[in-house]
Amino acid sequence: MKAQITLLPGDGIGPEVTDSARSVLDSVASKFGHEFAFDSQLIGGAAIDAEGDPLPSATITSCKNADAVFLGAVGGPKWSDPNVAVRPEQGLLRIRSVLGLYANIRPVKIYSELIEASPLKPEILEGVDMIGGIYFGKKTRDATSASDLCTYTVAEVERIVRVAARLASGRQGKLCSVDKANVLETSRLWRDVTDRLMAAEYPEIKVETLLVDAAAMHLLSRPSEFDVIVTENMFGDILTDEASMLAGSLGMLPSASLGDSKVGLYEPIHGSAPDIAGRGLANPCASIASVALLLRHSLGLEQEATAVERAIARAIGAGARTADIASDGESRVSTSEMTAEIVRGLS
Ligand code: NAD
Repeated sequence: MKAQITLLPGDGIGPEVTDSARSVLDSVASKFGHEFAFDSQLIGGAAIDAEGDPLPSATITSCKNADAVFLGAVGGPKWSDPNVAVRPEQGLLRIRSVLGLYANIRPVKIYSELIEASPLKPEILEGVDMIGGIYFGKKTRDATSASDLCTYTVAEVERIVRVAARLASGRQGKLCSVDKANVLETSRLWRDVTDRLMAAEYPEIKVETLLVDAAAMHLLSRPSEFDVIVTENMFGDILTDEASMLAGSLGMLPSASLGDSKVGLYEPIHGSAPDIAGRGLANPCASIASVALLLRHSLGLEQEATAVERAIARAIGAGARTADIASDGESRVSTSEMTAEIVRGLS
């Protein structure tokens, strides 16, 4: 097949892990007989430096014309001055909004060989959160106070719960909805809508509801009992970083932002890691696993997606370790060596 893919390398380790993603896509294209065309565009701090805007119009146009978008990471200390209103992260929030991407899927896969790097021994968990809520609400600030408005509509909750329910149907049939209904009105709406929709449309799925503070604890005490978690934007953000520790490193976890069309945005869940940027230390697995999600969800190439996931597992199984997942005494490979090892295992 032919596909047009926009690459948004961004900042810090973003360009390094985007190179890895591109190598894997090139290799998938040549091994499986596809034609992928790439268009690299600016986002985040790099775009602020070049254009004064974290999401230039050329970037928006390219993303809108693409079949899928891959993003490295945005942000860094250079653009963190609290007194400057234009910030790299705005580019990411805006591109999700422009493309109508409301469901953020963050599969947490644990490789048995990395149990050493994880404090726990869970199975697999898949988290879904929402592009909405407090991150998108009206913000105010004066000399003595600040506020962030959190709003959800019934339709917004319904669409994300349906995405999560469909995911759960294809897995163990268990859905855990996380909220803070004891104190937040948006959570009470969230819970009412979830309970009603699940009973009416997915009676076969086992639904559990947890308050977010309890969920944070249960994720550590009984991780393997979770299947799909559905929650709002900020809770999902925090819980998936917690869950990344189950996988051993932030450098292992991919994500997909999806909407109602096939175009999706795929990115590792980690940030721009300025502490290791430019030194070949970044773990490319999260990015390469995001490529697998891109192949599956935007291009409908399930066989190729599975091949990429198997290649990551093979490289890990063969002992390839970037510094973040290496145990004491284990030898370490660079970003490009890890990528090459994964590309070699593609079949
Ligand atoms: P981070 O995810 O960048 O890094 C946290 C820690 O994990 C660091 O020690 C880093 O070295 C390590 N790490 C992250 N990814 C890694 C990888 N692939 N391989 C090996 N180690 C890895 O989070 P942070 O330090 O809190 O944020 C840095 C910047 O990134 C900030 O400007 C933040 O706003 C931004 N950020 C961007 C995104 C995004 O682009 N989606 C997400 C989170 C944070």
